[in-house]
Amino acid sequence: MQISSNFDSGNIEVIDASNPKQVLLAIRPDLNSAHFQWFHFKVEGLQPGQRYGFSLSNAGQSSYKNAWSGYHAVASYDQVNWFRVPSRFEDGALNFDIETQQAQVWFAYFEPFSRARHDQLIEDAQRLAGAELFATGRSIEGRAIELLRISRNPQAQRKIWLIAQQHPGEHMAEWFMQGLIERLQLTDDAELSALLEQADLYLVPNMNPDGAFRGHLRTNYAGRDLNRAWQSASEADSPEVYFVQQQMRAVGVDLFLDIHGDEEIPHVFAAGCEGNPGYSPRLERLEEQFKQLLVQHGAEFQTVFGYPRDEPGQANTTLACNAVGLEFDCLAFTIEMPFKDHDDRPDPSTGWSGARSMQLGKDVLSVAAAMVGQLRDQ
Ligand code: ZN
Repeated sequence: MQISSNFDSGNIEVIDASNPKQVLLAIRPDLNSAHFQWFHFKVEGLQPGQRYGFSLSNAGQSSYKNAWSGYHAVASYDQVNWFRVPSRFEDGALNFDIETQQAQVWFAYFEPFSRARHDQLIEDAQRLAGAELFATGRSIEGRAIELLRISRNPQAQRKIWLIAQQHPGEHMAEWFMQGLIERLQLTDDAELSALLEQADLYLVPNMNPDGAFRGHLRTNYAGRDLNRAWQSASEADSPEVYFVQQQMRAVGVDLFLDIHGDEEIPHVFAAGCEGNPGYSPRLERLEEQFKQLLVQHGAEFQTVFGYPRDEPGQANTTLACNAVGLEFDCLAFTIEMPFKDHDDRPDPSTGWSGARSMQLGKDVLSVAAAMVGQLRDQ
């Protein structure tokens, strides 16, 4: 049996592979940071029909300890179709096994969105969805951070921004972007036409390419949590945020969505700006309307479960959502999708998945279309 993780978004260390019924593994921390949770590795040389067991021995020391109960790892034989394998959190380790159908299998924390798929998405957005490459930032290691613009009416007044995967292990965020960009390719979509009549879209499909490539959970190459850097972004250690802030200040923002995954809560939910200084009845109405429309639209989304609400004036303005909402006095949300499942509509075979993330990205465009006329008029 050979175990490897020396590839895009790979992360595992082999401790002891001598017992194929219980291969001992450990998750490697982010570079320059103590965070870890994301794992992704390939196992080769297996006998089809045999059962193999794997144990992530340091899972109990990971960043989010409540992430593992009710969680099941994902596996794939072809890196296309991913399915859940029953997993158990026992004595500080995450254990799962598989009666393999193939000689090789991949395991991951969530269906990975590869850099190759990212490059294809950027190309498709331009070739098929009419997006332009508006600007390109650079990560610390020099990877491109593409800012796409979709502008179909030169008179459009509103600027709608979506950014994804500031936290590099949250691969569902770029699946969301892929779904959204696929919908932009439709030519007979009345909601989309109405939206783009009034608004330009600004999209950053991957904010943290170094962290994603390196198999990080939380931080960039410098060990910075980008979603805590929005009051102190610098070209030296958070150029990813610095770039996007410069672009936002040049363009303006009327609606901002920051797309994430949550390790612990088994529901899709949104977090708003209620703790911001200057949070107004206008913003409160817009937030309520956005959430209600998403529910009414039938999206996989709910408003019962989520983070505790911030007390008035107590928001952490180093978060993108709060920082952008405050600076631009606009509707701003963090959208959180689960690593586990959306328990309002559970699917044990896949759990929350890339496909479900894509559908949510499409659904959000319907809500943006319904609200675009009111973003500044209340
Ligand atoms: Zn996140």
